[in-house]
Amino acid sequence: MQDDFRTIIEPFRIHSVEPLRMTTPQQRSAAVRDAGYNLFNLHADDVLIDLLTDSGTGAMSRDQWAAIQHGDESYAGSPSWFRFLRAVQELFPFRHVIPTHQGRAAERILFSVLGGPGKVIPNNTHFDTTRANVEFTGAEAVDLVIPEGRDPALFHPFKGNLDLSALEQLLSERAEDVPVAFVTITNNSGGGQPVSLANLRGASRLCHQYGVPLFLDACRFAENAWFIHQREEGQERREIADIVREMASLADGMTMSAKKDPFGNIGGWLAMNDDQLAEQCRNLLILTEGFPTYGGLAGRDLEAIAQGLQEAVDPDYLRYRIRSTAYLGEAVAAAGVPVVQPIGGHAVYLDARSLLPHIPPLRYPGQALSVALYQTGGIRSAEIGTVMFGRHPDGSEQPAAMDLVRLAVPRRTYTQSHIDYVIEVVLKVASEAPALPGYRMVSEPPALRHFTARFEPV
Ligand SMILES: *Cc1c(COP(=O)(O)O)cnc(C)c1O
Repeated sequence: MQDDFRTIIEPFRIHSVEPLRMTTPQQRSAAVRDAGYNLFNLHADDVLIDLLTDSGTGAMSRDQWAAIQHGDESYAGSPSWFRFLRAVQELFPFRHVIPTHQGRAAERILFSVLGGPGKVIPNNTHFDTTRANVEFTGAEAVDLVIPEGRDPALFHPFKGNLDLSALEQLLSERAEDVPVAFVTITNNSGGGQPVSLANLRGASRLCHQYGVPLFLDACRFAENAWFIHQREEGQERREIADIVREMASLADGMTMSAKKDPFGNIGGWLAMNDDQLAEQCRNLLILTEGFPTYGGLAGRDLEAIAQGLQEAVDPDYLRYRIRSTAYLGEAVAAAGVPVVQPIGGHAVYLDARSLLPHIPPLRYPGQALSVALYQTGGIRSAEIGTVMFGRHPDGSEQPAAMDLVRLAVPRRTYTQSHIDYVIEVVLKVASEAPALPGYRMVSEPPALRHFTARFEPV
């Protein structure tokens, strides 16, 4: 306990280190030009502080590395699988747990069974791979986050909440076309914002009234539970694991990326209570992922995730985790840089559209800001805006709801001085904002274009 002191320290010390490679602004300008001004195309060696994603990039603990040595690589029925299953069901007591190599594989399997033309799938905000996997089946993905969730500057304790009246309207009009409803905790594409237990209870009640199963996209379940613990009336005395179990009890299933809160470098799962649905999903799993007791993962990965799940719900870790993200966000906001408020769990989202009003959305202000952060300080971030969400299934291009740049903080990986450096770079780029150019896309793939599109400045 450190209750008497103001400084919230990292609740770990460093056991093994990785060198960072320094580069000059000239080297970075050449590297980003060669990458077609798409930061996904950079060599990671040319990045100093990598805030592209918190997915699979966290530091594993001593106990996770030790667990890896227990990995049993039996094709079927490995003890590592049973340890994984126990760890998952301890928090998410669904009847069926289906391991996958990452979250999007769980999505693809589920939507292959439940999706298809004429179907509509609501979510607070679909994550990019979730939306793409829904749309790939011909179904429609609709985002029903509360109106407060679309206003970057507005404070609200649970800005990830689903708009329950919009959900009720959809269900009352066409429940038979809704094979499943989703809630993403925390709401990644909407600023890493949490969803309250009260909202989940409401969504659960509505879905069940209309006979529609409710699923969680639970990648950041522990961070969401911490926000509930801190912000929701009557929750401050509960254990984090207990809050997680209540969230699970309100749902009929989940998709999961173990690369997020469970501290895996790879992994995921699909879980549900429905026996018939589980059988259909397992049949698809065997086709592309593997046998149902490993699902595309090595036994050692299952062990690392099982251990990581226990660490993810440790309150000392979560207090540090949420505080360190807020530290970055509050520092840049205090200096006048527009950010999504309040600061989310895993990332700080810079509001590129407000910072760069001279760049119209179809000239990609988020791309402009993320390229500048790299050129100036070697920081890699991710555009979450019109590049990611602007292209529609009918071929049209429209501005996304917001043009954000996400600075995602890998778990347990960077120290406070790394973050102080990031703050300095963001402030320098913000001071030069009026001089930044917009971008034109010169090539784009048919789906998930942000990963591989190429750009040039205009
Ligand atoms: C990362 C993520 C996914 C997809 O998981 P992968 O492991 O990257 O395939 C789905 N939903 C949300 C909210 C995510 O953050």
